[in-house]
Amino acid sequence: MDYAASVVDLIGGTPLVRLNKVTEGIAATVLAKVEYFNPGGSVKDRIAVRMIEAAEASGALQPGGTIVEPTSGNTGVGLAIVAQQRGYRCVFVCPDKVAVDKRNVLKAYGAEVVVCPTAVEPSDPRSYYSVSDRLARELPGGWKPDQYSNPEGPRSHYETTGPEIWKATDGRVTHFVTGVGTGGTITGTGRYLKEASGGAVRVIGADPQGSVYSGGTGRPYLVEGVGEDFWPTAYDPAVPDEIIAVSDRDSFAMTRRLAREEGLLVGGSCGMAVVAALEVARAAGPDDVVVVLLPDGGRGYLSKIFNDDWMASYGFLSTSAEATVGDVLR
Ligand code: PMP
Repeated sequence: MDYAASVVDLIGGTPLVRLNKVTEGIAATVLAKVEYFNPGGSVKDRIAVRMIEAAEASGALQPGGTIVEPTSGNTGVGLAIVAQQRGYRCVFVCPDKVAVDKRNVLKAYGAEVVVCPTAVEPSDPRSYYSVSDRLARELPGGWKPDQYSNPEGPRSHYETTGPEIWKATDGRVTHFVTGVGTGGTITGTGRYLKEASGGAVRVIGADPQGSVYSGGTGRPYLVEGVGEDFWPTAYDPAVPDEIIAVSDRDSFAMTRRLAREEGLLVGGSCGMAVVAALEVARAAGPDDVVVVLLPDGGRGYLSKIFNDDWMASYGFLSTSAEATVGDVLR
């Protein structure tokens, strides 16, 4: 019989698929690594299992303990899946800009969710960083994985994501493009691909306009899960060769195109990464292979990016939401 011992064993091993429509006029091959194939629906399953196993091994996480983490949703799902399989309680702290759909997903897996204001400094006691620190300290058996500083994050990508891309492309990958949030994906995957290729693979980060990675001040943007207003230690600035800043408008427009034209219903940070990947691919040659990582699926964003009214409220879309019979028959 061919089966996994639990959903945790289904993490990783995600496919690469060629982008065919949004790449019109581009000679290079552009391949998307589709991370929504992970059981929790995002790239973050990879770091969740790795961080928990390391904490169990070191004794930082004891039987019956509570996992407390500031997360925009995806890391929470990964942690919740592993935690429920192993009998840990999960408390997640997220900023209020995170879609309600995403918070409900965390609750569906049995986690508790605390919501904090987005528009405060990280040092503010109300910030989601401060609140999660306090809960981890005050809850008995509390342990905070801290994806922003945990070396197991980049390590999981060095040991899984990087080798998967290298193997699937037969070592022909020439460029790797990914969004930067904690920086774990770009640091671990990028480092592996550089080592495997003797430094030949170019590593490019995609960042929302306003975030510190692309020289911003940390001013707010709407794309979720990427960009920062501080420099996490999970991010090694020596790995990327280049960081490309992408606007919310361009990120969301591409996210919608990926669903309509490539059949990939993915999140806003995926659209952002693809905008950067296409910029890279346009300047690349016909033998180049650009791999872009798509961190999550789009179902958590139906009330935002895929909602015409929401898009129009930010001026990202001018058409009205529903077509009339006349529009359809025209
Ligand atoms: N996109 C989404 C939707 C995410 O949740 C994350 C993780 N914060 C990222 C991209 C960025 O990944 P990383 O933290 O590894 O930089």
